[in-house]
Amino acid sequence: MTKKKNLRSLKKEELKKLLLGWKEPGFRANQIYDWLWAKGVSSIDEMHNIPKHLSSRLKEFFFIQPIKFDSIQKSSDGTIKNAVLLRDGLLVESVLIPTPDRITACVSSQVGCSLDCNFCATARLKRMRNLDPDEIYDQVLAIHRQGLENFNRPLTNVVFMGMGEPLMNYKNVLSAIEKITQPDGLNFSPKRITLSTVGVPKMIKRLADDKVKFNLAVSLHSAINDIRSSIMPINDSAPIEELAESLVYWYRLTRRKITFEYVVWKEINDKIEDVEALVKLCKQVPSKVNLIEYNFIGDKRFKRAENESIDLYRRKLKENGISAHIRKSRGEDIDAACGQLANKTGLSIN
Ligand code: SAH
Repeated sequence: MTKKKNLRSLKKEELKKLLLGWKEPGFRANQIYDWLWAKGVSSIDEMHNIPKHLSSRLKEFFFIQPIKFDSIQKSSDGTIKNAVLLRDGLLVESVLIPTPDRITACVSSQVGCSLDCNFCATARLKRMRNLDPDEIYDQVLAIHRQGLENFNRPLTNVVFMGMGEPLMNYKNVLSAIEKITQPDGLNFSPKRITLSTVGVPKMIKRLADDKVKFNLAVSLHSAINDIRSSIMPINDSAPIEELAESLVYWYRLTRRKITFEYVVWKEINDKIEDVEALVKLCKQVPSKVNLIEYNFIGDKRFKRAENESIDLYRRKLKENGISAHIRKSRGEDIDAACGQLANKTGLSIN
């Protein structure tokens, strides 16, 4: 017997072709697609309007295997962290972040990460594999259901700020976003999706060329090459000038401002020169800035900056007409905050 295939790895066109080959009417592909991506069923048996002979045949060759929650932790601030069990037994994490006006899903795109940012807990896990489109879609759907169950509110935002680098899993991330946004999928607005990247210039240009409709955030943390390279090795191969050039390209094609994510650390990037470099970059690249509170991950080199330093950033940015927000840490007590996702529940830390 041949090995069964993941039914959700088929594109709609492939599904159509398969069913035509089985002499089934064309509309069956639409019905099945709707069960898979709009209704989000977890088994072929749940497809009620599909005739028995067809569902039996599908089951003979295909499986649907959604993610499962291995464990769920709830923070005192309402944040929920899920340990997500994938079909090969690996784990990633996803986070539901509730605020008075939003329910945000923070999802992972890879198991582990290859980028080695010094301040991030996920970097301590080696990259094991990319997530498939259905594994990313499932995280979003599961958090939507979790929001309804726990807060009686639907999902309002999706951020690719969990484990992994989404632009290093380009095809699958875009395919998942397609399922999340298209009318015969979850029909979720791309304006409410943000992809966060460490900043891979070639892939940022590709996003712009592909005319994506979602938002882009870049984890910057310093606008000075030496400093950025010392905390984010990616900067050696993609220095700030090259990154800036790709972001200007993005803006020219999409007309959407990017968001710089920026953590301020004591003695690393809390001097006036650091602030001035950021202001200069923001004048070059149409952007806004999220000043993120640092979440401690056990490395003594990185200390949260004094409030005065963060305030200096905010003031100088404002003075120069650049919008800046301070993003408070959420879910820190359960290691669900930015940079803390590292599967204390499962994967070994190398
Ligand atoms: N690889 C992508 C997606 C991860 S997003 C990216 O780098 O953007 C996770 C965000 O949290 C990034 O902005 C990252 O720089 C930030 N981060 C990592 N470790 C952190 C920490 N310990 N405290 C606060 N933010 C952190």
